[in-house]
Amino acid sequence: MRTRFINLRIPADGNRTQPAELVVEDGRFEEILPAGGATAAGGEHWVDLEGALVLPGVIDAHVHFDDPGYTHREDFATGTRAAAAGGVTCVADMPCTSQPPVTSIAALTSKLRAVRPKALVDYVLWGGVSANSIAAPDWRESLANLVDAGVGAIKVYLLSGMESFRDLDAGALREVLGHAHRLGVPVGVHAEDRAVVDELTARAHLHGEDSPAAYAASRPAAAESAAVATCIDACRATGARLHVVHLGTGEALDLLSAARLEGLPISAETCPHFLEFTDEDFDRLGSVLKTAPVVKTRADRERLWQGLAGGELSFVASDHAAGVWPDEKETGSIWSDYGGVPGVELLLPYLFDRGVRSGRLSLQRLTEVTAAEPARLFGIEHRKGGLRPGCDADFVVFDERARWTVRASGLHNLNRYTPLEGLELTGRVRATYLRGRPVFERLPDDDERFAEAGLGRWVRRGVA
Ligand SMILES: [Zn+2]
Repeated sequence: MRTRFINLRIPADGNRTQPAELVVEDGRFEEILPAGGATAAGGEHWVDLEGALVLPGVIDAHVHFDDPGYTHREDFATGTRAAAAGGVTCVADMPCTSQPPVTSIAALTSKLRAVRPKALVDYVLWGGVSANSIAAPDWRESLANLVDAGVGAIKVYLLSGMESFRDLDAGALREVLGHAHRLGVPVGVHAEDRAVVDELTARAHLHGEDSPAAYAASRPAAAESAAVATCIDACRATGARLHVVHLGTGEALDLLSAARLEGLPISAETCPHFLEFTDEDFDRLGSVLKTAPVVKTRADRERLWQGLAGGELSFVASDHAAGVWPDEKETGSIWSDYGGVPGVELLLPYLFDRGVRSGRLSLQRLTEVTAAEPARLFGIEHRKGGLRPGCDADFVVFDERARWTVRASGLHNLNRYTPLEGLELTGRVRATYLRGRPVFERLPDDDERFAEAGLGRWVRRGVA
């Protein structure tokens, strides 16, 4: 069955768009044509998109959907519904916030069994190595098996708060990188320095401090810079492909860019909260904005936007991580409040409004930082991340003029809260197509329609 989407525009150079037609067969783009070329071929189904802007389906490279194991926080059904409503057609789920953590084939198998029937959009799975898993004598074999099976990348921490997925020291990081390099898989690193944070946290506790400012002071920019320096050393020593997740600090970005100029295979992502908020906002908003790393200064924020526009930062990911609302976010102490914010549904509309409409990103750069670049990290660029013949027909019908206000109550994930509450945005997802089929549609009366769960598929690294 061939479907021809007509009367639409796709991004061209800079902020330009070009009228086009998309021909989809068996879930993939067969042709992307200039508008007006259509001749009514036999058996073709036509869909008129009424002049709408069509963007590549977003790949959110960093989500915690907590399934199986912590489904009181999020699960794959609610997480992927939120993704679909936000124009995200592929999520990459982290290995550390489900049980058992995805550090072995057995854990990967149990994860796939849990999420497969629930997924509404496609998914990449991160594998992981922790201080826990590396204690087993056969950890190298476990890692090789995960890579053979098709995990997209490997996640490690230099500072973790999770007992079941503890952080690595610099020596262990090098060992893991060396092995990952031989296996041909990138390693994503949570880069905050344990020694710096432990010392400052102990000092805050000693003085009985309990405020957003105290928490922020315990995780300063210096902690990120020190950890990124550790990453760069390890990258230089091993030649491994390293990706720093959720970078929030300008100085750490300076270090990273210098390392790239040196020719090291290192990259980084940032998140909407680092692009939108500063330490002053954190003082005002409190735990609803608590994340790790924590938001930094205005100067950091401006440096991140600049780095994103110019290509020093590869892409933006949500780091979607919802705690039970309100219980886990309002425990009575900033130290025990859950660190993490849900964000998969707001990633694209946020970046369109604050990035493209504000003149900080071109429309073309938006498609790179939401789709093409994350696809490259996971080795799936031949299938995902662009409006190109041969790629999966994953796309977003985007209403550039729709004005709306962010309300947590209108989101679709399980625990609904957001530091972006009340933000007015222009630009909204009208429909999301996964392999040529609508998985989400916002109808003219604002009713919403979702396809049935289970349509999403596992996307394996390097597999056609
Ligand atoms: Zn994360």
